[in-house]
Amino acid sequence: MAKILVLVEINQDKDITKPSSQVLKASRQIANKTNSSLTCVVLGANIDTLRIKEQAGLCGVDKVILINDSQLENYNSDIFTQAFIKVIKTESPDYIFGNNSLIGMDLFPAASFHTNGGLVMDCSDIHLDNETLFVTKTMYSNKVTAKLKFKNEHKPKLITFRPNTLMSEETPRKEPEVVNETLNIDSNLIKQKVKEIIKSKTKEVSLTEASSIISGGRAMGNWDNYKILFETAELINAAVGASRAAVDSGYAPHSMQVGQTGKTVSPQLYIACGISGAIQHFAGMGSSKVIVAINKDPNAPIFKKCDYGIVDDLFKVVPILKEELKKLLGKECAGASKS
Ligand SMILES: Cc1cc2nc3c(=O)[nH]c(=O)nc-3n(C[C@H](O)[C@H](O)[C@H](O)COP(=O)(O)OP(=O)(O)OC[C@H]3O[C@@H](n4cnc5c(N)ncnc54)[C@H](O)[C@@H]3O)c2cc1C
Repeated sequence: MAKILVLVEINQDKDITKPSSQVLKASRQIANKTNSSLTCVVLGANIDTLRIKEQAGLCGVDKVILINDSQLENYNSDIFTQAFIKVIKTESPDYIFGNNSLIGMDLFPAASFHTNGGLVMDCSDIHLDNETLFVTKTMYSNKVTAKLKFKNEHKPKLITFRPNTLMSEETPRKEPEVVNETLNIDSNLIKQKVKEIIKSKTKEVSLTEASSIISGGRAMGNWDNYKILFETAELINAAVGASRAAVDSGYAPHSMQVGQTGKTVSPQLYIACGISGAIQHFAGMGSSKVIVAINKDPNAPIFKKCDYGIVDDLFKVVPILKEELKKLLGKECAGASKS
């Protein structure tokens, strides 16, 4: 029987993140088809074991390995790597799956190095073809889609998935076994110290073809808040986009992501709402003819790159913009087109 191990990430409320749930549910499908066991590992501090057990059970997990330790409160690459490697060595899985989140992008290459396992990052799909596992990923700035398989000698086979790209089918609930592991850190291997954490404050959208785009960043806070962007966009036939931070947080689907690892757009008008203006975001929209930024931080980098800037709360500015557009265009908004 093969073994699948999934690295599960938790949010600030210590719940399993939506992208991790998607990876778990997709892993369950693969486990069912390959007669494999499905184990997940959760690394963190002050985790409610019963809550995680319940959430993992809903995703069809057989076993939860929990390392609940105050040293795992904030992400530290060296500490998390040791914890992750410890579990991998104990479990000896055939496959290790996770998100292509910042944590996944950091831990999976490290795990591949320490285990000599094969690694494919940032996949958007996984499927079995005659019992052979294939993953799909885009390459060369989304110009081609590659279908890849591992050589048999690779064990473990490590795969990260782009958040929100996996289809998550509902799966029968399980009652997973919970194993609490301890964190035995070799302090000689800790070279990093986290000194301070500064918390920063669809329907199918044809982003690449739109002549106007309104994008929302991490500041949107949740998917429901995108409603105001869709309503405003509808008035001017604009598409709605998102930053990677918003996508990685589960606020918007990956299909809406603009940037280096998302879509490259070149509209006449690009309105960035609550987007800081990171170089990777700019890589995808920098060729827009007119860039308008709405950001409440006057020092946000986007203000150095935009044509017009509004320093204010987007939730104040966008409704005013919507009303003004309605007056100007004499249009009524038929309702939000987000679904
Ligand atoms: C290899 C790699 C590839 C990447 N590819 C991409 C990519 O394709 N696309 C992409 O976008 N990013 C990409 N990134 C991530 C990028 O570096 C940034 O992390 C991301 O763009 C930040 O998104 P954001 O501006 O929405 O979030 P943040 O950087 O958190 O900025 C949020 C902004 O909203 C403002 N704000 C908060 N509340 C409000 C409010 N109520 N009203 C107005 N403003 C508010 C804040 O002042 C802040 O400036 C990539 C990173 C890496 C390492």
